[in-house]
Amino acid sequence: MYAQVIVDVAHSQVDRIFEYSCADGVSAGSRVKVPFGGRLIDGFVIGVSQTPSIPPEKIKPVAQVFDELPALVPECFSLMERISSRYKVPKASALRLFLPAEMRRGKVRESYKKIVKVGDISVPIPKSAKKQLALLEYLNDNSSVAAFDYSALCTQFGAQAVKALETKGAIQIIKEKINRNPFEGVVGEEITRTLTAAQQSAVQSIETSPKRVHLIHGVTGSGKTEIYLRIIADRIQKGKTAIFLVPEISLTPQMLAQLRARFKGVAAILHSGLSAGEKFDEWWRLRTGEAKIAVGARSAIFAPLENIGAIIVDEEHEASYFSETAPRYSTLEIARMRAEYNDCKLILGSATPSVESYARAVDGEYNLITLTERVNHRPMPEIIIADMRKELSRGNDSAFSKALRDELQNTLDNGKQAIIFLNRRGYSQKIICRDCGYVAKCEHCDVTLTYHSEDDCLKCHYCGAKYRMLPACPECGGVHIRYSGTGTQRVVADLNSLFPKARILRMDNDTVSGKDGHYKILNKFSQKQADILVGTQMVAKGHDFPAVTLVGILDADMSLQFEDYRSGERTFQLITQVSGRSGRADAKGKVVLQSYCPENYVLRYAVNYDYLGFFQNEVRMRKATFYPPYALVCRIMVTGENEEKAVAALKEVYSAVESLKNSDRDEFIFLTRMRSPIKKIQEKYRFQVLMRLKSEKYLPEFYDLAVKHTSASVLVFVEENPSGLS
Ligand code: ADP
Ligand code: ZN
Repeated sequence: MYAQVIVDVAHSQVDRIFEYSCADGVSAGSRVKVPFGGRLIDGFVIGVSQTPSIPPEKIKPVAQVFDELPALVPECFSLMERISSRYKVPKASALRLFLPAEMRRGKVRESYKKIVKVGDISVPIPKSAKKQLALLEYLNDNSSVAAFDYSALCTQFGAQAVKALETKGAIQIIKEKINRNPFEGVVGEEITRTLTAAQQSAVQSIETSPKRVHLIHGVTGSGKTEIYLRIIADRIQKGKTAIFLVPEISLTPQMLAQLRARFKGVAAILHSGLSAGEKFDEWWRLRTGEAKIAVGARSAIFAPLENIGAIIVDEEHEASYFSETAPRYSTLEIARMRAEYNDCKLILGSATPSVESYARAVDGEYNLITLTERVNHRPMPEIIIADMRKELSRGNDSAFSKALRDELQNTLDNGKQAIIFLNRRGYSQKIICRDCGYVAKCEHCDVTLTYHSEDDCLKCHYCGAKYRMLPACPECGGVHIRYSGTGTQRVVADLNSLFPKARILRMDNDTVSGKDGHYKILNKFSQKQADILVGTQMVAKGHDFPAVTLVGILDADMSLQFEDYRSGERTFQLITQVSGRSGRADAKGKVVLQSYCPENYVLRYAVNYDYLGFFQNEVRMRKATFYPPYALVCRIMVTGENEEKAVAALKEVYSAVESLKNSDRDEFIFLTRMRSPIKKIQEKYRFQVLMRLKSEKYLPEFYDLAVKHTSASVLVFVEENPSGLS
């Protein structure tokens, strides 16, 4: 037999198929070790044949075959081709997406424990062997137990007695694989619900529409989760599998609990926060078919499932569905590929669909399903705008408007809970010398440092570098330092002095660590061990806390300041999502939205929950000014530690693009090259070729350019409709 192998080296020079001889058991999808250039390296078998395609004397044998069951499902090979040609990455890079990184490095293995099963307990035991007799009696007394824990028996009766009984045939000691179970504590009670009429017709529409992709646009609290679960249950019942994507799984323990309560061991979780062992086990449970539902963030789209019956992408508008490392894939695009391959439905859901997805739905490409009301006709929370300019002129320069303070007081008096949202962590965003204007910056990045009060230090939010707080200005020696830009730590400090009795929790990147970090905080809050939860966008995600009746949005328009065609869209989404946490149960909710430009149209639409109005306005603008989805924004990034080499590469890339433009002027709406707004991150200088194009026509050329100009010292990569231009 001969195996066609892709070696696990992500380099264009070895990006082809090599042939090795192999034993009969090897099949497509197997992971192998093969001799290559004088050493042994890992590879993937992508096909086998009876006859070689080159002279047999030139063929070396496969050195080792890894798994009994081929790790890669057959679909991987078709996706590998599509991904590597779409994003111009070596086939090995595309295949790597389908395997947990830890598994590739061979660091994790199955974990085993020994169990004891009872055999023939009528065997004769001498009276003197007291421990053996005691053990036999114990086994007899517990005859209903199918298997005993080996080490527990050893502790109780001694390892010798256990061994002796094994030798005599009274018991068998068996090595059994154990599954390391992530989020073990996260289980809820199984709730069976009758679908509301709206949910019912949504399910019906999905099942009967001939379209491949379905977009559920349902207001926050409209019960989208239940729709997903019904679809999944149906597919499982039909013997199929399902993929369920959520933006950040550790932020949605309630969703996880519901899933596990309903589907038990059939659901497996794929998440970057899991330990290597947990990931390994969950992944294999899916591969062997023991588990049939893959739940996870972006990378779970590569779950090793066959016979997929539905793919669900919750909160489809989230930026986290775009990969930030090569290949810079769009999860929705991969999801579409898999849905086509499996001929199954792809269901996208959001209270605030991305403009692009909604436009496709309006155009009829997607089946659009609209849920306009919350479950049980619960009202949407009322949004009150607090004009912070007026607050200032009234002499209130604190982070809280009078309206928000009053509402917080009411909420606390009523024994309810509040969420305060602010998208800035730390104590203050920057520190400025009042005498000379000096601003502290990171030594490795072109970024201002944030003051963190808890450890009295300055931190870089881009590279994580930590600096001691400055006793005085390093430029002029002045000691009058201004703290500018309130962060979450300061908000908590201010709330503590405003409401000394209130119990306050904070949730941001500094307070959470590990996969349980979020869970612990959210759990505490849901058990009402705190009155106020302060946090960054983490608090905006799909949480369902019945006692929350107030949401405060401290700086609604902060994201409007960025010069980016999507800033309006992002602001609308954020306001709607955070507001959606309020009043989800019986008591009506309120939202106080603080702004320095309350007349902004985005806020107007958000306050009225007018998604359609927002969308129509947005697409009108984007059409007129040629922005996505009516054009493509493309950025070719050129970065490197050596500034001269980076600039040289930038010039070459630019002139290649320019000559494309000169031959096809109509296609290019805009083209420029420049330093990126953040000039340096982690010692790497950043430059960009920025353009807007009428179509995706030249994308393959741009990806080729990136490959061509990437070297040991300069990294060049393409971003399509990037979610930020910093
Ligand atoms: P969404 O994801 O649309 O924001 P959820 O799925 O979280 O909404 O549902 C909102 C609330 O409504 C949850 O508390 C959920 O338990 C409840 N709910 C959903 N469907 C039903 C139903 N059919 N009957 C009763 N309650 C429901
Ligand atoms: Zn830095």
